[in-house]
Amino acid sequence: MRNIILFGPPGAGKGTQAQRLEENHGMIQLSTGDMLRAAVGTGSELGQRAKTIMDAGKLVDDETMIGIISERIDQPDCRDGFILDGFPRTVAQAEGLDQMLKDKGLHIDHAVEIAVDEEMLADRIRKRAAETGGARADDTVETLHKRLEVYRQQTAPVLPYYRDKGMLKTVDGMKDIEEVTAQIEEIVLA
Ligand code: AMP
Repeated sequence: MRNIILFGPPGAGKGTQAQRLEENHGMIQLSTGDMLRAAVGTGSELGQRAKTIMDAGKLVDDETMIGIISERIDQPDCRDGFILDGFPRTVAQAEGLDQMLKDKGLHIDHAVEIAVDEEMLADRIRKRAAETGGARADDTVETLHKRLEVYRQQTAPVLPYYRDKGMLKTVDGMKDIEEVTAQIEEIVLA
């Protein structure tokens, strides 16, 4: 099975698409945002540290994130393929991921960018906040601006990292959910 990365700004639909790939093809969704939110829920040391950072729309440090993902990938359910949703978010995380996978005898098969019109993101985030009853403290239009700035400055530079390796494909994230899934499947299942 295949190991893939989904890229896209907050609200692009990475989580939705990762869930659909998990349901349809059995690849495991590895959402670092979900993992951090779970840690916040348990009130662990990591959770307490992460909460302040997440609420401010900033990024948790690279070393912590690489450690979390490395442990998760070691779980047996990842053997049939995984979807990285929200990781790597910096070039240092991408480099750390490469080295870690090499050490485990694994590799990434595809990196997929879900491209969206940024003007639509505020609407999508507002909708998600309404649908989830405000479960995510960072789903506010104010935090969205900060998260978008962080995406542009720290995560967008990760795209050329994969493009230069000939691994990056882009799908049109403004289409219907089903159509976006079909575009991703065409790349991933080819
Ligand atoms: P997400 O659910 O992917 O939008 O992530 C929510 C928040 O969790 C982000 O705004 C960051 O504060 C934090 N986070 C998630 N993934 C990462 C990561 N790979 N590196 C650093 N921070 C992360």
